[in-house]
Amino acid sequence: MSLVTSELATDFPTAKRVVVKIGSSTLMGQGGHLDEEFIADLSGQIAHLVRDGVQVVLVTSGAIAAGLAPLGFETRPHEVDVLQACASVGQVALIQTYARAFAQEGLSIGQVLLTRNDTGSRSAYLHARLTMERLLEMGCVPVVNENDTVAVDEIKFGDNDSLAAIVGALVGADLVVLMSDIEGLYTADPHNDPTAQLISRVEKVDDSILGLASGSSSAVGTGGMMTKVRAARATQLAGTSMVICLGRRKNVLYDVAMGADIGTRFVPDAGHAPEPARKLWIGFAGHDCGSVVIDDGARAALHSGGGSLLPVGVTRVNGTFSRGDVIAVKDEDGVLIARGITSYSSQEAELTRGMKLDMVGRVVPSLAGVALIHRDELLVF
Ligand code: GLU
Repeated sequence: MSLVTSELATDFPTAKRVVVKIGSSTLMGQGGHLDEEFIADLSGQIAHLVRDGVQVVLVTSGAIAAGLAPLGFETRPHEVDVLQACASVGQVALIQTYARAFAQEGLSIGQVLLTRNDTGSRSAYLHARLTMERLLEMGCVPVVNENDTVAVDEIKFGDNDSLAAIVGALVGADLVVLMSDIEGLYTADPHNDPTAQLISRVEKVDDSILGLASGSSSAVGTGGMMTKVRAARATQLAGTSMVICLGRRKNVLYDVAMGADIGTRFVPDAGHAPEPARKLWIGFAGHDCGSVVIDDGARAALHSGGGSLLPVGVTRVNGTFSRGDVIAVKDEDGVLIARGITSYSSQEAELTRGMKLDMVGRVVPSLAGVALIHRDELLVF
């Protein structure tokens, strides 16, 4: 396990461009209403950062949570269309509250609502990036959420921790901050185990770290520690730091962005150069059109680095996909190993699975010498 506990505290460089994500449970106050005082304080911290030359993109949850009370719900409903109606009402309240709070600080905000369909299309992704650049250049604070009213399962980010990691890659942030209802990642569940220790630094998100993150614990949001740790893995691949911290701690965002050692900081993987932007887009921004299952040999080859995925390692092909689609690469246990752009259709992958490359050309001449996924089009997690 590569971690350092709080005694070994160190300070970090000041961030230049920060993506900060606020969870629903941090945003909501008494009686199911948005906590305006908290939002005013947060806007104050962001304005302070902007005045100090730090650019900030806000990823906010809370649309569904803020829509519950106005529509008469005491608890979160289950039906997707009802949740989407709540999000539609709540997003208005959310953005109005932010707009008012930031106006007090002399700042304008720009609303950006995204689904995976938007980030999954390379051209829409690049346009979203340009829009955010312009907003930041003009001194505005982009306020991002998932477009919950239209997002259905296939095009969902699902949780705003993943969305924050994707936005971090989109804008080339050097720091992603997840403001949560817990101080950070602990060695055990601090609610049940008094010996649990806060982990202040994580250098590599490996299986032991994933094992520490358990399921969701929030009543109003969708994120749990698992989604945060997965988001941390994504930011590490991008060469970006990520901090999980207690959102309600005084001045926490400002202090974290200034490099204070607060919460759990996932530092970029030192043994790994940041993946290029296009690979990050392949790995995180889109949705899978299908998947291939690979054997242990192929998995080991991908993990040892640098190679393309060849048909010889493929044991199963799932779904229907075309050449040029993004597909997932999984191991026999269903664990996601990589994502990439396939040079084969699902039919071609099925026809050639288990074959050496020199045989492939005899079966499908146009694929002679062509890897199933070329290494430049493949992000290994
Ligand atoms: N997009 C959802 C909302 O604004 C929240 C998703 C999440 O909490 O991660 O209500």
